[in-house]
Amino acid sequence: MASSVKITGISKAYTKDVPVLKPLDLEVKKGELFFLLGPSGCGKSTLLRIIAGLVQPDAGKIFFDEEDVTDFPPEKRRAAMVFQNYALWPHMTVFDNVAFGPRTTGLASALVKQRVNEALELVKMSQYAARKPTSLSGGQQQRIALARAIAVDPAVLLLDEPLSNLDAKLRDEMRLEIKRVCKERSLTAIYVTHDRREALGMGDRIALLEGGVIRQLDTPVNLYKKPSSCFAASFLGNVNFIKGRLAGKEKDLWKLDTTVGTLYTDQPVPKKTEDPGKEYTILLRPEHLMVAGTKPTPNVFHAEYESGTFLGERCEMTFRSSSGTAVEVSEDSSEIREKGKVYPVSVLPSNVVILED
Ligand code: ADP
Ligand code: MG
Repeated sequence: MASSVKITGISKAYTKDVPVLKPLDLEVKKGELFFLLGPSGCGKSTLLRIIAGLVQPDAGKIFFDEEDVTDFPPEKRRAAMVFQNYALWPHMTVFDNVAFGPRTTGLASALVKQRVNEALELVKMSQYAARKPTSLSGGQQQRIALARAIAVDPAVLLLDEPLSNLDAKLRDEMRLEIKRVCKERSLTAIYVTHDRREALGMGDRIALLEGGVIRQLDTPVNLYKKPSSCFAASFLGNVNFIKGRLAGKEKDLWKLDTTVGTLYTDQPVPKKTEDPGKEYTILLRPEHLMVAGTKPTPNVFHAEYESGTFLGERCEMTFRSSSGTAVEVSEDSSEIREKGKVYPVSVLPSNVVILED
């Protein structure tokens, strides 16, 4: 049975005075596919290992449902882990690899067999039961690793960069497969990655970590559309950062004086209304900018076309506003733009986001 996971005040330093996790709180709901996303070294694996019981935290508690498991050894927690390098036993058959966990719990052999068969069926690997893992491809081995984790009926499934060793096409396929398996089995899963596409494409919610701190926690769409910091904005996608000041409210829109001209936003402004003349950083995603767009918006500025790269499904272009600000635009069109010509560039008020730092 899947559990919820609650973490309160977890902190960790491997060496004195070098905190890897600052006191951290987190709640993962039962049945949720939850992502820990962040750059290399931010403490993702450490947190996952603490949840698994493989690393002891310096302080704080971990609960699976209502049960405090902080002092439980790994084998008592019913947390199953899937690693980047699969960690399968090469000398055992696929069947025995998957059966290993259920057997150690003392389950009767008929039930073990049933569990293993169900798990292999779920990952579509039933026909490989008698093979050795070394005779399988990377993607197939990762499916077996997933089946092995599921076969123990885990309270929580922990995945640490499970797709990093696969090529791009297989990675896309396995993303869908892992998500399907988690949802079909209503698993509680905590998935660690540095790859925003994985987190955005699969996650119910994402905690974005930096330097052992959760910087933002939200759904994929909100994290992408409403990042609160420059860090979150850059980590979740491509960015233009421009500077601007609040210049009052008109009906439901905030007016902003920016380096590319006046822009309006219907997005919330940062709560701290310190100095009214404060300069903010404003996010405009390249794919939200429209060249000679036809959608009605009060936000139109003029910019000169400098250069562009045609990438097949998209064209990435650089424009320069009359104030000299470079603006990147990513458009799903192959229309030829003329170097040196000035174009109207527009953006919807919902895509003008004021950042808090
Ligand atoms: P991530 O998974 O986000 O890349 P890690 O949790 O693996 O980050 O590592 C966070 C920091 O802790 C890094 O600076 C890393 O070097 C350090 N670290 C990780 N494991 C150990 C360990 N066993 N001993 C000492 N330092 C460690
Ligand atoms: Mg890691």
